[in-house]
Formats: sequence, structure tokens, C-alpha cells
Amino acid sequence: MSLLELNRVQAYYGGIEALKGISLTVGEGEIVTLIGSNGAGKSTTLKSICGQVKTSGEIRFKGEAISSWLPHQIAASGIAHVPEGRRIFPKLTVKENLEVGAFSVKDKALVKERIEQAFAYFPRLKERYRQAGGTMSGGEQQMLAIARGLMMKPDILLLDEPSMGLAPVLVDQIFEIIQELNASGMTILLVEQNAYHALQIADRGYVIQTGEITMQGKASSLIADEQVKESYLA
Ligand code: ATP
Repeated sequence: MSLLELNRVQAYYGGIEALKGISLTVGEGEIVTLIGSNGAGKSTTLKSICGQVKTSGEIRFKGEAISSWLPHQIAASGIAHVPEGRRIFPKLTVKENLEVGAFSVKDKALVKERIEQAFAYFPRLKERYRQAGGTMSGGEQQMLAIARGLMMKPDILLLDEPSMGLAPVLVDQIFEIIQELNASGMTILLVEQNAYHALQIADRGYVIQTGEITMQGKASSLIADEQVKESYLA
């Protein structure tokens, strides 16, 4: 059984059908990437999983149908979403941003422990824990956004364009962090326009085009595919 499974998922914005029946799976321990051009429906796929857009079709997580659940119930069930554009709280400090990430954890000692774990993973955040999130660099904000996502101890991390807008050296760092997280057991669904990097670290990949999955397979096969190379790796 897959940890996460989408079967013929359609998503709508008003009358516009942004996803036209997407099916995909993510197995425990995998990095699966969803690649595609602007407006293809990558972010909408993640928002559908998180209950942020209206969908039809089936979304199963740990075997349970979750598509009628509310976003906070989905989050509490073990799905963490790190949205595009980082969306940290600019006026809150690094530490406060992390605390917000653990919103439903009532045990203060546990929240503290998880913040320490986040600092161990991201030493840069520890150095800056009293700094306002909005004054951090782009790369630091992305680290904070990922660390915040981890505060609920999720079973799967949905990452939306983590490399967007970052200098090449930081892009490399972010991809390394994603690999490390995966090596420590985290399952990851990674949405990326940086298809080459994403396929390099992923186990499997899906190509999405105007709301439909047009190709899927092992990341190593997709990266060598002529059509993928021409459209997404040029
Ligand atoms: P990008 O890489 O540019 O973020 P994407 O693959 O993530 O693209 P989506 O953001 O999922 O694409 O958008 C899919 C389609 O749905 C696009 O045609 C987009 O214009 C449309 N769309 C997205 N959000 C909304 C919205 N809130 N209202 C109406 N249409 C939307």
C-alpha cells in the first residue's frame, strides 16, 4: 500500500478545471517529484492533497480517504505542506515561526524539544532564532519554511518549489537538505521547475502538463528521456 495515493483527482477554481484527473502514488521512504512548466497544475496538486482546493476523485493517505477532511485535520494526520514562496511570518521571530508550525502540539516541552531538533538540522536557524523571519535571506527563509513543516513530525513532506529564487549555491544546499531528510526516513513529494535537480535526487517522477500526467517512471529513466530532456532539462 502506498502512503499517499491520488486516483483520478480533478480540481477546480470556479468553473476552471485545473487538474483533469491526476493519479499518482508516493510510497513510504520515497522521494517522488512532480515536474512541469508554469501553470501545469503542480501547486494545485499539493493544495488538493492539503484540502485547500475543491476536488473530486480519491485521495488516500495511510489508506484513509481524506479528500473531505478539513485542512487542519489533514495536517494533523501527518501531511506537512511547505508552500511556494516560503510564506513564513515575516514579523515573527525564527523561534516563533517554528512554534506556529507546532500549532496543535499542546505539550510545551515537546515543542521545545522539536525546536532543538530543528536547530540541530539547521544550525543557521539557531544562530538567528531571535531574528524576524522577514529579515532573513531567501535561503534562510526556505530553511525556516522546511523546519516549520517538520514541527508536527509529519509522515510526508510536500515541498512546493523549494529552490525557487535561490542562488545556485543555496539551491544545492536545499537539495542536500532534502536528501538528508529523506535519508533519515522522511517521505517527500517534491514539486519543482528545476527538473534536473529534482530528478537527480528523486526515486520516481511524474510529468504534469495542463492538468494531466503525461509521463511517469523512475527518475533515472526520465532524466535520460529525450522528450523530457528537450522540454524540461534544456
Ligand atoms: P507554477 O510553477 O507557475 O507555480 P503550477 O504548475 O504550480 O505552476 P498551478 O499554480 O497549480 O500551476 O496552476 C494550475 C492552473 O490553475 C493555472 O492555469 C492557474 O492559472 C490556475 N490557477 C491556480 N490558482 C488559481 C486560483 N486561485 N484561481 C484561479 N485559477 C487558478
